[in-house]
Amino acid sequence: MTYAVRAPSSAFFGPSVYRGDRKRPVLALTFDDGPSESTPALLEILEANQVPATFFMCGQNVRRWPGIARAVADRGHELGNHTDTHPRLDFHASDFIFHEIAMAQETILTTTGFTPRLFRAPFGVRWFGLRRAQRHLNLLGVMWTIIGKDWKWPAPQIGRLIMDRAVNGAIICLHDGRRVEQAPNVRATIDAVRFVIPALKERGFQFETVSQILCPAN
Ligand SMILES: [Zn+2]
Repeated sequence: MTYAVRAPSSAFFGPSVYRGDRKRPVLALTFDDGPSESTPALLEILEANQVPATFFMCGQNVRRWPGIARAVADRGHELGNHTDTHPRLDFHASDFIFHEIAMAQETILTTTGFTPRLFRAPFGVRWFGLRRAQRHLNLLGVMWTIIGKDWKWPAPQIGRLIMDRAVNGAIICLHDGRRVEQAPNVRATIDAVRFVIPALKERGFQFETVSQILCPAN
């Protein structure tokens, strides 16, 4: 059961991916829990490096920072759904789960004009009812290949982990926002991203959004 609820590769609670096309040297940077007042600094680094990313946003943070959410969409990044208030979904009723995801979907669409097609469960925890919610809202679940632990690690450690584990098609999970109960170290996230983008390009990797990285080469 622990595997079904938390393992990145489990599809027990609905269709979900954790890695993109393995045949191409491509990576997807993803940022969860935003937007926040720290997101614009991240956007500048991405723009300077011509790197698209995917932002899994919480509805309540989009309502709090609507201009920043729009700036993310306007710069061509992909937006994903990360629930409205970032609850753990386990042991909740299906209606609660549906409402959390539908509310975020509505907020992201009306604020930015972007309709998310991707969903990431808070803390990576999935539960009964998620499959139905994803189907009704036409959302694909996205977990991760590498998680940066940027809520507690300093930038050099995050950078080393990503450099050590980078493989074709990897989906890299970092954070650009704050959860109520635990403030991620956004400074460390930004410094790590500034370091790893050129280092990974040097190694031959290109960056894509999650939707792009899922498409096989043909
Ligand atoms: Zn989160």
